[in-house]
Amino acid sequence: MKVLVTGGCGYIGSHTCVELLENGYEVVVVDNLSNSKKDVVDKIKKITKHDLTFYQGDVCNLTLMDQIFAKEKIDAVIHFAAYKAVGESVTNPLKYYQNNLDSTIVLCEVMSKYNVKKLVFSSSATVYGNPKKLPIKESFALSPTNPYGKTKLMIENILKDLYISDNTWSIAVLRYFNPVGAHESGLIGEDPNGIPNNLMPYIMKVATNELPYLNIFGDDYDTIDGTGVRDYIHVVDLSKGHIKAIEKVLQDTGIDYYNLGTGCGYSVLEIVNTFAKVNNVKINYKIVSRRPGDIACCYADPSYAYEKLKWRATKGIEDMCRDSYSFVMKNKEHGYKNK
Ligand code: NAD
Ligand code: UDP
Repeated sequence: MKVLVTGGCGYIGSHTCVELLENGYEVVVVDNLSNSKKDVVDKIKKITKHDLTFYQGDVCNLTLMDQIFAKEKIDAVIHFAAYKAVGESVTNPLKYYQNNLDSTIVLCEVMSKYNVKKLVFSSSATVYGNPKKLPIKESFALSPTNPYGKTKLMIENILKDLYISDNTWSIAVLRYFNPVGAHESGLIGEDPNGIPNNLMPYIMKVATNELPYLNIFGDDYDTIDGTGVRDYIHVVDLSKGHIKAIEKVLQDTGIDYYNLGTGCGYSVLEIVNTFAKVNNVKINYKIVSRRPGDIACCYADPSYAYEKLKWRATKGIEDMCRDSYSFVMKNKEHGYKNK
């Protein structure tokens, strides 16, 4: 079975390529390297001792995508390629609507043409907006609060209409909660450009003294210690969820939606304290005001993914903190420089 992975050099895509190769799939990656580096391909090969085919290019490029499908005998696609920075999507919404929607539409057009109708799509828990109840179930109302989240909801709707128009499609929409951590080899992990927006990459920069302290955005939420609560999921667990989703779309037709989270919420302070403890490092922090648009608490009910895909997360918060730190330390030792 040959799987096309769009955005396969990125954070979640690279870990998923590892899982695919280790599970006997052939892998073709297309990535324009707008948020990743080509050496990730060599790292995936080094971890798995398997080969993969890499195309450097844009999924919005219909000619390129047609060439890839004409040359490779693709059986199924996992579509990661997208822009994902919430803040940037607010200041530059057109960039997000253009890339995230165009890439999906071009991809689906070419898939239809070549009669490849098995698709796993990366959506996000951000489609739920500010949930009225917890834990979050797939059936909850969808109301994203920023342009990035709106692109994900629009794509979910496009895929639903596509399936309604042609029910030979088989589509799994995966709504990720908060992916963190890195592969145990320390070779691949999250490597954001500039000053990170997300909690774990920011903590990693404080741990390595690249940034002096963490700003904790509010300690007056109605949570265990007043700081925000999220459902952090180890990226390797998340990637294994994609293998189950690929198996599912290869077997059935239909469109379905799955929360990929652990079902456990942790506060910012719990993450900071666990990171400091398991890695024996000090994480300086200051409490500052709430970040606009943040919600107090968000965690999944992942039981539907277990029922339908037989998938559940197995790694805990200590693994997530340990593997994040070992990725950053290993890459520092090898002369890693910020982009
Ligand atoms: P990432 O930025 O690390 O990976 C995305 C990859 O896609 C990058 O390698 C980038 O170069 C590539 N890319 C972007 N636009 C492209 C295009 N038009 N053509 C070809 N390549 C393109 O992001 P990630 O964290 O691995 O996220 C993967 C997917 O999961 C995205 O769709 C993202 O929206 C979604 N997601 C991520 C998170 C998260 O917190 N990381 C949470 C929920 C959903
Ligand atoms: N957070 C924080 N300082 C930071 C980044 C994040 O206190 O520098 C908090 C944020 O307010 C939220 C949690 O950490 O409660 C997770 O934030 P992240 O941006 O990683 O994920 P999201 O809010 O998109 O779920």
